[in-house]
Amino acid sequence: MKEWKKNIRQVVPYVPGEQPKCTSMIKLNTNENPYPPAPSVQKMCQNIDNLRLYPDPAASLLVETIAEYKGLSPEQVFVGVGSDDVLAMSFLTFFNGDQPIFFPDITYSFYDVWAELFQIPYCTKALDENFQIKKEDYYWSNGGVIFPNPNAPTGVLMPLSDIRDILDHNQDVIVIVDEAYIDFGGISAQVLLDNYENLLIVQTFSKSRSMAGMRIGYAMGSAELIRALNDVKYSFNSYTMNQPSILLGAESIKDEAYFRETTNKIIATREWFKAEMKELGFTFPDSKANFIFATHESVSAKEIFEAAREQNIYVRYFNKPRIDNYLRITIGTEEEMQALLTFLRTYLKK
Ligand SMILES: *Cc1c(COP(=O)(O)O)cnc(C)c1O
Repeated sequence: MKEWKKNIRQVVPYVPGEQPKCTSMIKLNTNENPYPPAPSVQKMCQNIDNLRLYPDPAASLLVETIAEYKGLSPEQVFVGVGSDDVLAMSFLTFFNGDQPIFFPDITYSFYDVWAELFQIPYCTKALDENFQIKKEDYYWSNGGVIFPNPNAPTGVLMPLSDIRDILDHNQDVIVIVDEAYIDFGGISAQVLLDNYENLLIVQTFSKSRSMAGMRIGYAMGSAELIRALNDVKYSFNSYTMNQPSILLGAESIKDEAYFRETTNKIIATREWFKAEMKELGFTFPDSKANFIFATHESVSAKEIFEAAREQNIYVRYFNKPRIDNYLRITIGTEEEMQALLTFLRTYLKK
């Protein structure tokens, strides 16, 4: 072995969902929003200029717009290149203890990748047989806690009282709640921010705001946590947010009516789709996200996944312990879900 090879960092990377190049497909595999961003966002695209210049390193327009919308001070908001960037930065900033950090065994599969990358010790806590987080598992001494709410890929929402309980038992570490899907029917832990200085909440424009391609995420927390995040960011890359993202992100926040309309449409489609899937012999934990996590009574998930793919219908399949007989199906438009149901009825001969 060449000596220099020993100096290469060895990592097993996260594998994102497929982004197929073909145009005629039904894409329900990466939890994107089927509706376009707010009309004013499209219009604002024409007003992007000054690409010659570096963007505002503080992304003040976006930070201030989000802060005002959320009723926070700008000192309580941090923005980054998608919530993946914000979360990675948070692992680097907040998880520096000797004790392992805790997160669920079935959860967003980037957490263990970042822990490995940054050499943070971690310990996963098994969800119960109904895919619920057991809050008592988080009472033990640890170096930090992170979980999504609703959890991914299960869609299960944890009540605020349980989050408060986890915070009460974890006053000496940072607790991060990843709220990528909170706008599809959950209540944000933002109401707890005033009482817990060690709470960091991360949200994204990728799902509920239809802007996955723009890469905008943000964190909300006490001024002290946000200052620490900014110090790490400026030690890494001052210009994480590009000029179009800053402008278009701020524009999206202004159209509350459109945001409500599109998220409500997805919620309505999800509830109707749940009933249809039950008829077909699927079961799933109750989802409050823009996807459901379903298993069939007789046909294997892998088989359905592959057959759907043949028909250019893409859903997500994870070949992992405990969840290898489940499909994660993004809620698209009603037409897209109808097409999937038509395929399933034929395939399952119902
Ligand atoms: C989608 C997702 C993210 C990352 O979203 P970005 O596009 O990077 O903002 C983070 N956490 C969870 C649980 C997600 O599902």
